[in-house]
Amino acid sequence: MGLRFQQLKKLWLLYLFLLFFAFFMFAISINLYVASIQTADSELRHPKPPPKRRSLWPHKSIVAHYIGKGDIFGNMTADDYNINQFKPVPGEGADGRPVVVPPRDRFRMQRFFRLNSFNLLASDRIPLNRTLKDYRTPECRDKKYDSGLPSTSVIIVFHNEAWSVLLRTITSVINRSPRHLLKEIILVDDASERSYLKRQLESYIRVLTVPTRIYRMKKRSGLVPARLLGAEHARGDVLTFLDAHCECSRGWLEPLLARIKEARNVVICPVIDIISDDNFSYTKTFENHWGGFNWQLSFRWFSSERKRQTTEITAKDSTAPIATPGMAGGLFAIDRNYFYEMGSYDSNMRVWGGENVEMSFRIWQCGGRVEISPCSHVGHVFRSSTPYTFPGGMSEVLTDNLARAATVWMDDWQYFVMLYTSGLSLSVKDKVNVTERVALREKLQCKSFAWYLENIWPEHFFPAPDRFFGKIIWLDGETECAQAYSKHMKNLPGRALSREWQRAFEEIESKSEEFMSLIDLERDKCLRPLKEVAPRSSLQPVTVGDCTSHAQTMDMFVITPKGQIMTNDNICLAYRPPKQGVIKLLKNRNATTSNVMLTQCAGDASQLWNYDMDTQQISHRDTKLCLTLKAATNARLQKQEKVVLCMQCDFKDITQKWGFIPLPWRL
Ligand code: UDP
Ligand code: MN
Repeated sequence: MGLRFQQLKKLWLLYLFLLFFAFFMFAISINLYVASIQTADSELRHPKPPPKRRSLWPHKSIVAHYIGKGDIFGNMTADDYNINQFKPVPGEGADGRPVVVPPRDRFRMQRFFRLNSFNLLASDRIPLNRTLKDYRTPECRDKKYDSGLPSTSVIIVFHNEAWSVLLRTITSVINRSPRHLLKEIILVDDASERSYLKRQLESYIRVLTVPTRIYRMKKRSGLVPARLLGAEHARGDVLTFLDAHCECSRGWLEPLLARIKEARNVVICPVIDIISDDNFSYTKTFENHWGGFNWQLSFRWFSSERKRQTTEITAKDSTAPIATPGMAGGLFAIDRNYFYEMGSYDSNMRVWGGENVEMSFRIWQCGGRVEISPCSHVGHVFRSSTPYTFPGGMSEVLTDNLARAATVWMDDWQYFVMLYTSGLSLSVKDKVNVTERVALREKLQCKSFAWYLENIWPEHFFPAPDRFFGKIIWLDGETECAQAYSKHMKNLPGRALSREWQRAFEEIESKSEEFMSLIDLERDKCLRPLKEVAPRSSLQPVTVGDCTSHAQTMDMFVITPKGQIMTNDNICLAYRPPKQGVIKLLKNRNATTSNVMLTQCAGDASQLWNYDMDTQQISHRDTKLCLTLKAATNARLQKQEKVVLCMQCDFKDITQKWGFIPLPWRL
């Protein structure tokens, strides 16, 4: 018994010791792990030279493939930029499916995202010839193209593009274009620094089944000079420009070439599908999208119904291209000779931006057309930030490019853009020399910007001579401006008779200087979206606030003679009865729903308004309900909010009185 007790005691002690030891080791490793994470975090914020204790990182030994020689804590090193880590996994991303990067690679995945502003590790797992679905409608699939289509040179310019992404672009062009239509592929390297884009790329393209050449810019210039260099060397009948991070899907090329054969003055764009910057999945977009520009000349997609304007016969044909006032810019085809006849590009546009604005206006105003073919689908990696440098400064370069486009093509509207785009001002005009482009406009006898807006983009939301542009103030009866406005309207002869917007615009215009000088941006209350930074696409309730949200142009409106109340980015004031009634809404929870919303302009009856100069009420044309400012409680935020609603009109109600204060928009 005694002996066994002694043995048991020893065993117990050993057991306790082991337990303690295990716990001790566990605590140490946790400690080290936490320390390493903290280092990683602070390193990210304050980059330092590579730490020496790299072995602390728990995943070090099982990282899938290459780790750059330098720092594993977030700082990119020369190796990171230069080494090509393409390592395809068979079947990965097939049919455009998303890629899931294994958990052990997540940290590297985040690090390498910054290199290109997309998930490089995801792309590096996808084979160059991954399969995609057929994204065409049955009508498009059935379409027969005649045999004598023109040939094309595909021109791809790039600056520091990732290997797998660039090569997948090229591979998709080769694999999904009829060989006889593809004359050649022309790559233009805009002074990239990454080493795999030099010799390695040159030897790679040498063995391709389609003649592929590479030209290099001597110094970093931007996509316009690079595309011009590519075009100079092109021998195909048609120039097809693609970004360096695209994937062409089945049947993409024929509809583009067929349209140019039909009409050589058409600049034709594919439908641009979305390749996710996060997981490289391929998502088809709607065929009926078209494009335009906002008040700051940024390209925007719109989806309201548009007549297919190509020819009378094809008006009902779902495979017929849609005329688009604006082009996104990266992906399009154009007849090579026509490209030059029309003045190719403004070669003084640097780095990125503005060239799509210039080309859209120029082509339309000078007798061409810009269209999107619903049968041609090409995927593009959309990124939310720019990965590359902007020699000369991003804001300066971009505003100079835009100023060039606006000065040459926009006539009176150039001042509007310059007044209401941050970074731009009338003085930028003096900086840019556009003599040659103005001469081109004369030589080609191009039409005016007013013509473009009226005929090519009648749905536009820019100011115009027959429209009101300015702020909508709530006439609280107290401010000087509100009093002057009400007094003026009340004393108009025949005021009760006329309910035409035109008539109101004239009255307002005649007093514009007085009203503008009286408005007190802090005391007067202007109509604007409830949220200061409202997402453009979603429904936004409306409120009033001080009139200084100038920078975002959120409290400026354009009113058309028809009675649409529009603002930047194709947003319109709309009557939208919510599911729960207005009364209930006022009493209860969610003040962020109202029966008046800002939403995408559609030109329908829900977006048409009347103005009564006599009572200064704005009413919804169909329901005859008046815009009313009411307090509502937002339960979620636990606070009172002022919300604009549509309610029964009552001419005595001060919360229903609105005035229009014009703002200048041209010289
Ligand atoms: N690009 C270029 N030089 C530059 C900027 C861009 O060659 O200075 C290329 C870029 O690699 C891409 C194309 O021009 O192939 C369009 O640029 P990006 O994709 O950044 O524009 P986005 O599609 O984001 O509008
Ligand atoms: Mn792009």
